[in-house]
Amino acid sequence: MDRHILITIDIEEFDIPREFGIEISDDDTIQISSQGTERFFNVINSLNIPCTAFITTHFAQKKTELIRSIAERHEIASHGYYHTNHVNDNLASSKIDIEKIIGQEVLGFRQPRLMNVDTKLLCESGYLYNSSLNPTWIPGRYMNLNKPRLPFSENKIINLPISVTPLLRFPLFWITFKNIPIDIYKKLCCWTLKNDKYLHLLFHPWEFADIKDFNLPNYIKRPCGNDLCDRLSDFLSWISQYGRFLTCRQYIEYTNHPLF
Ligand SMILES: [Zn+2]
Repeated sequence: MDRHILITIDIEEFDIPREFGIEISDDDTIQISSQGTERFFNVINSLNIPCTAFITTHFAQKKTELIRSIAERHEIASHGYYHTNHVNDNLASSKIDIEKIIGQEVLGFRQPRLMNVDTKLLCESGYLYNSSLNPTWIPGRYMNLNKPRLPFSENKIINLPISVTPLLRFPLFWITFKNIPIDIYKKLCCWTLKNDKYLHLLFHPWEFADIKDFNLPNYIKRPCGNDLCDRLSDFLSWISQYGRFLTCRQYIEYTNHPLF
């Protein structure tokens, strides 16, 4: 089957409450994401789906055994050193320090909050691919309507954009997964996959933790926990009839990208 589905998760500190002025301890930012990570991989592993986990180095250092167990079956990539106050100075050390924990090479990078990253810096830091681009417009965040929707090379880095639909570039990332009716979301994913032969989706572990009591906007926290696990399981089982699941690395290998 020549249609490919890339399931990715950004394993990071649960720091989004701080964006809304809500205090949360550093320990809780790790524990809540850890709970959600285990639930997400229970779903993924029960369906035998390969996944790419973009992990902050800080989280990996706090949860080494959890990350090593994920690395046995899935690809590990970097989501920066820290999610809060990310700086580009530690792009290389983020990769090296995760490699020390998992004993495998890290090839990919995703910038915290999907902000822009200089691909020249990524290349100099030893990465092969970048998955930071959401090629759409998110008010107050980024404006990427002029960027490619499909994989492309730039400064010796392969860019693997998050999927948006053809034409209107409706985003298919975590917010729409839980906020629009699932039947419509499925139709949009199916259309995109058939048109592009490429569907690249993004989730976070803390979405699968019990976060309903946080004073966060409903579009961020509902549904959450086991309800979202059920939604994910149903969606992945359904979409599997339309394409083949690959990690980002497997996708690059499969497509024989000249940079690999
Ligand atoms: Zn993130």
